[in-house]
Amino acid sequence: MRRFVAFCWLACALLTSLGAEAQEPAPPPPTSGLVGRAIVGSESIPVALQPADGGTLFALTPLVRRLGGTLEQGAYGESWELRILETLYTFGPNSGALLRGEDILPLSAMPQIGATGPMVPLDFLEQTFGDQLGLQFQWEPATATLLVRRPISRTLEVVPELVQLQGTSTLALEFSDTPRYRIDEQPGLIEIEILGDRLVNPWGDPPGDSLVRQVQVGEQKIRLRLAPGTASQHYVLRRPFRLVFDVYPSTPSGRAATEVQRIVPPRQRQGIRTIVIDPGHGGSETGAIGASGTEEKDLTLAIARSLARALERRLPVKVVLTRSEDLQMSLDDRTALANQNKADLFVSLHVNSSYGSSAQGAETYILSTEASDERAADAAAAENQSGEGDGDPLYDLQLILWDLSQTHHLSESLRFATLVQEELNSALELRDRGVKQAPFRVLMGAAMPAVLVELGFLSNPTEEKHLESLDYQNQLVDSLVRAIARYKTLVESRPEDRSGTGDTP
Ligand SMILES: [Zn+2]
Repeated sequence: MRRFVAFCWLACALLTSLGAEAQEPAPPPPTSGLVGRAIVGSESIPVALQPADGGTLFALTPLVRRLGGTLEQGAYGESWELRILETLYTFGPNSGALLRGEDILPLSAMPQIGATGPMVPLDFLEQTFGDQLGLQFQWEPATATLLVRRPISRTLEVVPELVQLQGTSTLALEFSDTPRYRIDEQPGLIEIEILGDRLVNPWGDPPGDSLVRQVQVGEQKIRLRLAPGTASQHYVLRRPFRLVFDVYPSTPSGRAATEVQRIVPPRQRQGIRTIVIDPGHGGSETGAIGASGTEEKDLTLAIARSLARALERRLPVKVVLTRSEDLQMSLDDRTALANQNKADLFVSLHVNSSYGSSAQGAETYILSTEASDERAADAAAAENQSGEGDGDPLYDLQLILWDLSQTHHLSESLRFATLVQEELNSALELRDRGVKQAPFRVLMGAAMPAVLVELGFLSNPTEEKHLESLDYQNQLVDSLVRAIARYKTLVESRPEDRSGTGDTP
């Protein structure tokens, strides 16, 4: 199960002709393709439509003409540039990514080039005109009508939570609904401007700490005052929508600040209480298949169930399975479930396959943007095909940059993965395979330490027999329980909030 997928953004060949810059919007004759209409205020304008995987595409040119902004073809003829107010968006046909400056926003369907220029999905419009101009788009397929409205402003609840751990202050702003916002970052100050809506903060502003001196939630603006010598990064977690800022020392004086003042945040969750176990694949998506017909999805489910039982018997933890039966589930939903459950640990279980039949043994992976070796790259390429449906190109390489959730937990993921690999090596008497890194999509959005374990190779007939046997499965489960117990002890006996911890356990 491997497939090499070319990374295709600007490199995409442009298949269709790009000529025919839009004529004045004489409504195209209804026979020339699908035409719907957009209702903007009291005005109705014709908009060409095109069905696509992932939703309907809408002609962009008439919307730009009506709503404002400029649309131009990029310098190399493969990308397009849309400018609204001060913001430049770049996109291309056959790529599911929309660039906003340097930010990468995923799209539900890939734009195409139609007779009158780019055709784009609904969430493209929401992420461009919607965000910049505070417009709301509603598609009514029954009447082929796109309603464009300026919504009545909503009242959004926001709950700010600030914790400091390992020398980084993390501020999570949890919103009752997805806000539209603009972030302005200056030295020492971050301002989040809310576009259109009104904020209420039922719990009040949290006390500041040594890095984030003050958090102020106003009706239209959230202000973060940062200590001198700090740097910050922000990212978004969904379901519920959270805007997260990590603030850390960028200079020696900033570093001193964390050492002088160690704060134990009031609502900090410490310890390993909830563990999400993810049996890879499921439903029509079988995963790897062994020579005698063993399917990866069945093995991972059997082992995950038995691991869940063993963990709950032996440790004071709650275990959640991403699936407890044979059903198909997208990779993103698996991670989302872990985030929703506020899991402290995420373990995705898989079984490997490779060319040839000699490869054997278990391997533990953590996320990285680059694979640690060629085999790790193959494993990730195979696993990343799962769930999301075929034809979903691996713009994942860009998504990695987009969704940085897991990168904030990588050192803990590595620590945990090292224990898992140690236990597996000693139980199975494997030569040490070490912890590997690869861009596994299922790990990307996880907001907690997360590992992916390839429990063995179905491509190796001997190992297939082992993996089928209950004894061997029990050995694997035992090793995983021991690793999780050791990690739990390690985390829970750690002096609270020590900054600058090393990399090895
Ligand atoms: Zn797999």
